[in-house]
Amino acid sequence: MTLTEKILARAAGKANVQAGDNVWVKADILMTHDVCGPGTIGVFQREFGRNASVWDRNKIVIIPDHYIFTADSKSNRNVDILRDFVKEQGITYFYDVIDDPNGHWVFDSARGQLKRQYGSHYAGVCHTALPQKGHTRPGEILFGTDSHTCMAGAFNEFATGIGNTDAGFVMGTGKLLLKVPETMHFRLEGRLQPGVMAKDVILHCIGEIGFDGATYRAMQFDGPGIAALSMDDRMTIANMAIEAGGKNGIFEFDAQTQASVDQRCQLNGTKASYQPVERDRDEKFVYELTVDLSTLEPIVACHPDPGQRKRAKELNDVKLDRAYIGSCTGGKTSDFLEFARIIRGRRVVIDTFGVPATPETVHDLQSSRWGAQTVWEILVDAGVQMTENASCAACLGGPTDTFGRMNTPLKCISATNRNFPGRMGHKESQVFLASPMTVAASAITGRITDPREFLSGRD
Ligand code: SF4
Repeated sequence: MTLTEKILARAAGKANVQAGDNVWVKADILMTHDVCGPGTIGVFQREFGRNASVWDRNKIVIIPDHYIFTADSKSNRNVDILRDFVKEQGITYFYDVIDDPNGHWVFDSARGQLKRQYGSHYAGVCHTALPQKGHTRPGEILFGTDSHTCMAGAFNEFATGIGNTDAGFVMGTGKLLLKVPETMHFRLEGRLQPGVMAKDVILHCIGEIGFDGATYRAMQFDGPGIAALSMDDRMTIANMAIEAGGKNGIFEFDAQTQASVDQRCQLNGTKASYQPVERDRDEKFVYELTVDLSTLEPIVACHPDPGQRKRAKELNDVKLDRAYIGSCTGGKTSDFLEFARIIRGRRVVIDTFGVPATPETVHDLQSSRWGAQTVWEILVDAGVQMTENASCAACLGGPTDTFGRMNTPLKCISATNRNFPGRMGHKESQVFLASPMTVAASAITGRITDPREFLSGRD
């Protein structure tokens, strides 16, 4: 069996499963957020009764993160709906925007977009927050009401996005009927060269198979090349499995996975036991691709879908209006550090927005010093508009007052993960997906730029 089949077999209580089987699997975690949480709660209450209890109050994780820092009253109210439900059900893991369990969330636009407006429990973007808060464990099943839930496959677990109806059912029963997906095999070899990042790996793979090339399939990443990829790198790659239509993305378990998971579970006092899955000799794949990481170059996915692969250096004549770094995919601390390595000592020439994925990243950037300045100060001095309000922000457009949203038809290079028409705001805007380093180089020149042009002489 493949890694995905092994996890599904275990969760279904079966010795074996194969692609195409329909199996009932037990969930380990159900995650939801402010956009889909109210709908999921509505389905749960409609189907199980207004007074029904959730299947397990310790296995539901609620993370408001999408439409948070907006004056839109309906968006603010969604966070209140989550809080009321959490209180009513005694749900353990709720990462509220405010500290007062009896309060109401109202974004104060008069204070501006840049200064922190959240309390001490807020966790930021759900997929980045889940591992930080100790909710991702090898061998487990994670369902989330968000398509990029597949990001947690970096931790050797089966993680997939589900709709509100399925999530309402999981909320009541802890189970879901799933068809076992076929598995595509991506064997990674070699090591990334300077200026090339994990984002380039996944954009390369999606470019090979197309934006629907993995529809309802598992994308398994393994091989000697993964040893040199950090957990953040693996998260970036697994995150974008859905951009090829994948049911899930999954990585092999190794010492890095173990160290990261153990540290986070211990830090947060979450469940520390887990059982990883390892590779079998008899895995059956429907597709195989070997990627020599050392030969990859900086890649850009052009408007209007993530499969429109070109090398960054081929696109130097594309003039840009905007650059954006943020999201679950591209707003982690490591993403901002690589971005800052290129930006340091230079000035951006186009509007450039920086949105950390989580408050932890805000803290990291404001406390890491490079010489006399913090990384945060270096970015602000270079002209990057940095907000402390970690969230999804303009990654998916959002209400018109969302930080970084494109309200007119602009061309933007972005470290996010999706570029279908209208994704970041105006439906005639264009989004070019790239690594944080390529976004940085392009922000400096105002054109799509291979970041290796800025690497010489830098550490
Ligand atoms: S940052 Fe973007 S891709 Fe990630 S969860 Fe938020 S909206 Fe979705």
